[in-house]
Amino acid sequence: MARPTIISKTPQHLRVPPNLPLERPPFSWSQAAKELEGLPGGGVNIAHEAVDRQVRRGLGSKTALRIVRKRGPAQDISYAELSSRTSRFANVLQTLGVAAGEAVFSLLGRQAELYVAVLGTLKAGRVFCPLFSAFGPEPIATRMGIGEGRVLVTTQRLYERKVRSMRDQLPTLHHVLLVSDGDADVVISDADAAAGVRSWDALLASASPIFQTAATTAETPGVMHFTSGTTGKPKGALHVHGAVVLHQSTGRSVLDLHDDDIYWCTADPGWVTGMSYGIIAPLCCGVTSIVDEADFEAERWYRILAEQQVTVWYTAPTAVRMLMKAGPELPKRFDLSSLRFAGSVGEPLNPEAVWWGQEVLGRPFHDNWWQTETGGIMVANTAAMPIKPGSMGKPVPGIDAAIVSVGDDGHVTVVTAPDVEGELALKPGWPSMFRTYLHEPARYEKCFKGGWYLTGDLARRDDDGYFWFVGRADDVIKSAGHLIGPFEVESALMEHAAVAEAGVIGKPDEMAGNIIKAFVVTRPGIERTPALRDELLGFSRTRLGPAVAPREIDFVDDLPKTRSGKIMRRLLRSRELGLPDGDVSTLEGSAP
Ligand code: ATP
Ligand code: MG
Repeated sequence: MARPTIISKTPQHLRVPPNLPLERPPFSWSQAAKELEGLPGGGVNIAHEAVDRQVRRGLGSKTALRIVRKRGPAQDISYAELSSRTSRFANVLQTLGVAAGEAVFSLLGRQAELYVAVLGTLKAGRVFCPLFSAFGPEPIATRMGIGEGRVLVTTQRLYERKVRSMRDQLPTLHHVLLVSDGDADVVISDADAAAGVRSWDALLASASPIFQTAATTAETPGVMHFTSGTTGKPKGALHVHGAVVLHQSTGRSVLDLHDDDIYWCTADPGWVTGMSYGIIAPLCCGVTSIVDEADFEAERWYRILAEQQVTVWYTAPTAVRMLMKAGPELPKRFDLSSLRFAGSVGEPLNPEAVWWGQEVLGRPFHDNWWQTETGGIMVANTAAMPIKPGSMGKPVPGIDAAIVSVGDDGHVTVVTAPDVEGELALKPGWPSMFRTYLHEPARYEKCFKGGWYLTGDLARRDDDGYFWFVGRADDVIKSAGHLIGPFEVESALMEHAAVAEAGVIGKPDEMAGNIIKAFVVTRPGIERTPALRDELLGFSRTRLGPAVAPREIDFVDDLPKTRSGKIMRRLLRSRELGLPDGDVSTLEGSAP
């Protein structure tokens, strides 16, 4: 029997009734900006809105960040403390002579100093670029080279292991600020001091806690992010301070953040989700954010949800699938009743995962879609609308999205009929839109055609205005005249009780052009027999029909993923075909 459409169970927080009219309520970015304070003189600054405005609103003593340590008690940082520490860091940058617009990089775990460095840099009107702490020396040096990093904030241990040997490749790097690893004081030799190495603690202690926020405008560059590298070499996207208007508005309209929420975004700030929705949006909405210092571990995550009484949770499909793999018994040991809203982003969310949330956690996952380039959420299942499992929802207020087809001559035609596959496109002009790809202006220009930003993702829109992800343009498979999105095939396989995860590719075939090949990770305790393979082939043929079902299935222990948790189908493909791997700097498990 088909399962009914899920209605999000958050009636007390609904601001509009669940039977939404198709017309959207009036919305304008200038109206949305009025939710923020702005700077005297008309500018806007992310750190001002996220931190200092909250102190002025009377939230100074409220916990802004609760850092759950690997061991020991949690560390609470109030809005007032965050305000004074970020002012200290802004003063440090001033004292070091870092000019407006110059870049500060971080190579840190999820620790207090990372949050202070991000917000202090923005307060000072310098540009911030976070690096994921598990990167090895090469990816660090490449990104710092592209972003022309002037300052690096890192720990002594990470500096020794990953940066010191690369210093001669980093001519723009003048200052390295070392944070203690916790168990030992920072030690700086005379030679290091001569090379610009300083102690973070000492510099902050001697800086004033008062700083007048830089007079940034909506167009002043604020944050650089590198894409996940799922389809190839990561690109550097530049974002501006005006983006904060969208972060605040989607924090409210999509994540449903209210002042009394305890919110947990599981993404690392090394990726755009961890910045836009792990730092900026929640602080702008005045909530308390949980930061987990440790890496994924199913039991730990359930414990955090229960003990911290998380009300709003924003995570990713790969994490949801790992929780599903850990089984339904584990969550029963925890009281998850505080959870009011669960969101997911980063990859397509299999319908099975939405159902699992409803059945096991008592809350369905609300999928939403966006990219590093868009800077914030563009298409979403919000708390205020019925979820269609497998759909990424509808465009958020202020966003015009369409399905378009791009002709060989570059002409863009908007597809108005429902249920037709095409490229997902957005009307440029939303505040958090990237402003360039660093050192690749031509590539940036190529993303805009016929008055649209072309996302590189294929999707379709149904009669009710919901968007359905089909696949990345690079991953879509042409087989016997059909265009097949791997997500559809993977989702069907996931419905089988033996399957924990699946990755699907096209394998060249003389007759069909391509045949569908699936790589399947089984659930713990399942024996991978030829009979199971046959069963899965039959199961998917029944679900999908012979034209779309896989013709080959391989059992694997793991799927290659980016460090941000996305399946790298291009590696499944290159390895199957014996081709070179290409850029693997973001591959999970690659040499640190
Ligand atoms: P690169 O551009 O370097 O290949 P990437 O596209 O994975 O990497 P991100 O910007 O982190 O880098 O990811 C954005 C992409 O992730 C989207 O374009 C889309 O393909 C995918 N994505 C994000 N959210 C969703 C979602 N809810 N459903 C389907 N796909 C999603
Ligand atoms: Mg991309």
